[in-house]
Amino acid sequence: MDEVRVAVIGAGVAGLTCARVLARADVRVTVFERARGLGGRLGTRRLRNLAFDHGAQFVTARSRPFIKYVEVATRAGVLMPWRPRILEDDRSWDAPIEEWHVGVPGMSAALRPMSRAVELQTGVGVHELLQSQRGWELQTDSGRQNRIFDALAVAVPAPQALTLLGPHGRAFRHLADVRMAPCWAAMMTFDEPIDVGAEVRRWTQGPLTWAACDSSKPQRPAGPQAWVVHASVPWSRDHLEADGPEVARLLLHAFATATGVHLPAPAHLQAHRWRHAFVEQPLGLPCLVDEEIAAGGWSDGRRPRHYAEAVTAPRAASRSCPGAAVACGRRRWPAPRKRPRGPARSSAGSPRR
Ligand SMILES: Cc1cc2nc3c(=O)[nH]c(=O)nc-3n(C[C@H](O)[C@H](O)[C@H](O)COP(=O)(O)OP(=O)(O)OC[C@H]3O[C@@H](n4cnc5c(N)ncnc54)[C@H](O)[C@@H]3O)c2cc1C
Repeated sequence: MDEVRVAVIGAGVAGLTCARVLARADVRVTVFERARGLGGRLGTRRLRNLAFDHGAQFVTARSRPFIKYVEVATRAGVLMPWRPRILEDDRSWDAPIEEWHVGVPGMSAALRPMSRAVELQTGVGVHELLQSQRGWELQTDSGRQNRIFDALAVAVPAPQALTLLGPHGRAFRHLADVRMAPCWAAMMTFDEPIDVGAEVRRWTQGPLTWAACDSSKPQRPAGPQAWVVHASVPWSRDHLEADGPEVARLLLHAFATATGVHLPAPAHLQAHRWRHAFVEQPLGLPCLVDEEIAAGGWSDGRRPRHYAEAVTAPRAASRSCPGAAVACGRRRWPAPRKRPRGPARSSAGSPRR
């Protein structure tokens, strides 16, 4: 039987999970990622000797597949627990209620085990999906790929997925119903460590929702103390088109005001705009499948469930996609190989307080 080839677009947690599931079924997978590194919103921004987790800050393991993955990544040495002190408004905790895990040496490293056994092409944005008699071809910013794929899985934020998938089938018009919310993030370092009462500060009101000392995470670079500050969705929306340097200054000021601490001038200050950070209006389906294309990873609006959704959506997609390919008369997809059962494992979660 000929090899089955699938292109996955997007190397965030959703795309890499999908790629991993497909690779286990002996499908030849190529992942195309626009950015230089993997991770997407679980990414790490590196600047010379500095590194910031500027997107999602940690992961918690609640769903069964993700609990398993946390075990795998922990064994591989790319995920470690992080137990910061937390101050939320005027309530404090000595450590998180649940187990918080962070990638080491940065968040994006947590996804590395997922990218094994798949070909990963980073720095390649996909602009157009082209269908021919032979299969699917991709128009990318390094030109037209000279490879033919039997199926595609699109795992990018819904508005970007709509741009790619809009011309390919009525199923994808529902992507327009997904509403996503932005988040401005500020990254800053201080030559002298600052003390704002805890390693993590959270606010339920005002311009900020989160500030964390990145340097308090395990295996972070030695050097100036690094902080990441996240603006609230309303604030981010109000300043969506503002200049990065101006936003960075405003968020530094908001950080000082919210903590009531006189902050020294930061050695480094920069802002990053996440235009599509969170799902506000979910699709209500785990994924969309149309013949040889599956798309998923943006189905739920509640923040704590994003990770589980990002994992289960492409699992469903990668299962449905082969079925659809068979149903429409194309080649038969290989069944997943049976794996020997390993010894029983303990759960990574801890009881909630
Ligand atoms: C600041 C911030 C804080 C967050 N906090 C939390 C939290 O506390 N709890 C929670 O559950 N979730 C949180 N999230 C959301 C969580 O990070 C996401 O739900 C999850 O990482 C999404 O994964 P994904 O793979 O679906 O998408 P992404 O991580 O967005 O991955 C998509 C990838 O596709 C790439 N891409 C896009 N278009 C193309 C193209 N045309 N060609 C090639 N590549 C392309 C992108 O570069 C990206 O790497 C947060 C997100 C942000 C930004």
